[in-house]
Amino acid sequence: MAAPADHSGVDLRVEAAAPALLVLAQQHVDRWNPRAARDLANRAMDRADSCDDPRQVRARALAILAFCERMEDRYPEGVAAGQAAIELAQQTGDLATEARARSVVARILLTIGETDDAVLESRTALDIAESSGDLTSCMIAFTAFTNVCLAIGQFDLALEYCERASEIARMTGDDIACGMLMDTAGCVYVEQAVAAQESGDVTGANALFRRAVKLSREAMLVARRNGHRRYEAGALANLAEGLAALGQPEKALRLLESWQADPELDTAYTLTHHLDTRGAICLALGRYDQAVECFAAALELAEGKKSAMVYHEHLAEAHERNGDPVRALMQFKAFHTLYVQVASESAQRGARVAAVRWETTQAHARAEQERARAEALSSTNLELSRRTEDLLQQSREDPLTGLANRRAMERLLEHGLGDRAIAMIDVDHFKNVNDTFSHPVGDAVLRHLGQILRTSCRAGDVAIRYGGEEFALLLHRAEDESVPTTAERVRLAVEQYDWNAVATGLTVTVSIGIGIATGSDANTAAEALALADQRLYQAKRAGRNRVVA
Ligand code: GH3
Ligand code: MG
Ligand code: MG
Repeated sequence: MAAPADHSGVDLRVEAAAPALLVLAQQHVDRWNPRAARDLANRAMDRADSCDDPRQVRARALAILAFCERMEDRYPEGVAAGQAAIELAQQTGDLATEARARSVVARILLTIGETDDAVLESRTALDIAESSGDLTSCMIAFTAFTNVCLAIGQFDLALEYCERASEIARMTGDDIACGMLMDTAGCVYVEQAVAAQESGDVTGANALFRRAVKLSREAMLVARRNGHRRYEAGALANLAEGLAALGQPEKALRLLESWQADPELDTAYTLTHHLDTRGAICLALGRYDQAVECFAAALELAEGKKSAMVYHEHLAEAHERNGDPVRALMQFKAFHTLYVQVASESAQRGARVAAVRWETTQAHARAEQERARAEALSSTNLELSRRTEDLLQQSREDPLTGLANRRAMERLLEHGLGDRAIAMIDVDHFKNVNDTFSHPVGDAVLRHLGQILRTSCRAGDVAIRYGGEEFALLLHRAEDESVPTTAERVRLAVEQYDWNAVATGLTVTVSIGIGIATGSDANTAAEALALADQRLYQAKRAGRNRVVA
């Protein structure tokens, strides 16, 4: 018994990984098999969680699903899937997938007549595709843009981008896309030819029709070579239309009749498109009965009101030309009824698509708000932590002198004094400075002392305002200079400082007591401090302006 393979061609017993499923799904998209593509994309979605980047897999699967919805004319669903793909792709920075999803959305918008939005969406798709550097995404975006240009009558631009897409298709060896793009170029030439015809330029119109015919024929052969029935049938119908326009209706009919229609293989679109084309040619040839037959058969097969409406209208015209006004009126009434329905349905569908897009925009706006709020919060946090830093800094610094304060010194000594000595410094008769020269001069003296102490320090030494007119130095017991020598240098610097510049007649001296730790634990810091204090007191008692070590 054969392995239970489904229509996607994948052996169901094999647990294919999501990326492999997506590759297969894309192949089915390329071959216009929406059901198989959808099935594979859904299975990839189911397995996304077991992938390295589940979001990337989901984005790619959703882009494929959007394509499937479009192929099956489910436009609001297609836009919804496309928008979801765009969002996920943006989150993962997957520009290639975002461009593809935007291209699908653009083409759906074009189909439902939202031309302005289609233009914008396809432009965005173009930009994103180009910056993604992904060739296939570029080709898809160029193709979508070509179709948008065709719809808005920008034929030159359409041809330019069609050629750019074709270049990529040739480069990547994508033969199916090459053929499809030839057919697209053919359609552009037909539109140009019709415009030329309407402006009375028969020669120009014929030249353009000939180009279109050449391209459609080539496209038909390429599609046939690749076994792509839908593209082959489409190109064949376009070729027949072109031949009829060039005055070869018999040849066109023979070509259409050569198509071996197969309801199993051909979509309703292909079958009805052929019947309708044949009917139009018969009508032009004056074979009204045959034309009626073709349109009636197309009507029978028509899927959806929109195409049925078109065939009713064509039937009405065929009956009228055939001299049967009663039947013509019946057909026209049927056409009119459907026209009203289709118009309101398409308005509803447009509204649904608009709603989907609006919801997405709203979601985006909400996400943007959230992001802005988070940013504001984090900037508030940043501001707070900056202020906290400032506060911390302030709590450890003496504002008058800018030196470390007593709290900072205590923190510094939490882990012991190490190899450092403490020099306690007290201003001699400072009360007199305040009393004789004023409190602000006293402050100025303290600031100048701060500066003297700071500049007296070597790297690694710390100057501290211990409180009031008392200072401390934490001095490394370096080899080059002993602690008493440093203390003496500081004492002399204070004594020799130009205090006269601060206040006329001002002199300032300090007394210094040095404490050196004997152990290495934290307690030794307190011991050293006490010793320094004791020696400072000795220095005072010994007459001030001196160092006791
Ligand atoms: P001694 O030589 O014995 O240390 O005498 P002294 O006058 O320096 O000692 P005393 O402790 O009697 O006086 C200290 C004075 O320092 C008292 C106080 O007004 C002054 N003082 C403390 N902090 C500041 C300050 O921030 N600015 C000013 N201008 N004066 C201060
Ligand atoms: Mg004092
Ligand atoms: Mg003092």
